[in-house]
Amino acid sequence: MREEFAEKRATILQAMEHTVPEADWAAAEDLVDLYQEDRLGLTLLDQFYSCPPDAREEWVREIRMLNRHRGVFLLVAITPWEKYLYLVSSEGIEFHGSMAEGYLTSELLDFFGYETAADFKAICAAVDDIPVYEPLRLDEDICPACHTGSGELHELGCPVEVCPWCGGQLIYCDCRFEQLGLDSIATEEELLRLEVLLEQRGRIPYASEQRPGYLDEGSVVLLE
Ligand SMILES: [Zn+2]
Ligand SMILES: [Zn+2]
Repeated sequence: MREEFAEKRATILQAMEHTVPEADWAAAEDLVDLYQEDRLGLTLLDQFYSCPPDAREEWVREIRMLNRHRGVFLLVAITPWEKYLYLVSSEGIEFHGSMAEGYLTSELLDFFGYETAADFKAICAAVDDIPVYEPLRLDEDICPACHTGSGELHELGCPVEVCPWCGGQLIYCDCRFEQLGLDSIATEEELLRLEVLLEQRGRIPYASEQRPGYLDEGSVVLLE
């Protein structure tokens, strides 16, 4: 994971040569360094510099966090001239336009718990009240693998999720097969059935004590 991050950082710095004014280079690089071990922060910076939202010279001065739900983060990239919305998760990134427009689809408004489009717009207008996005590696309240928050459910398939039947790691024990009466899970329909069974049993939300030491060493795949 470390190497992957170092590579990403190098890619970002290379792309920055085209968009960052020389006078601002040091500050722009400081921000990259702040997020050098944060997957989502790096994903955002990589996207910003490889596909700049605007043609002019621009650089990210700050990243703020507007909202987060089940591992999906609504982040704001703040440049000297503009504020841009990005939807970021461990699955990828989507650009959501200028924050001044304050537009999200009704599906996303629902997902993040905003009552109305006007509510969201009002929140976007008060950018100073929006907290800075802290690098995740420093934040114990976030699952290091799927980035869900404390008290929230993991993304299904997250290696940190605890099995509610045996207390082991849900993706490594055999409980899911036993519960389904199958040797393997091959179809979407079987996966949905498993989700129903898990919910009936009661899925175990993320808590910081589940944070496995080995994840800090860098790998999510492993251990029997
Ligand atoms: Zn997780
Ligand atoms: Zn189990």
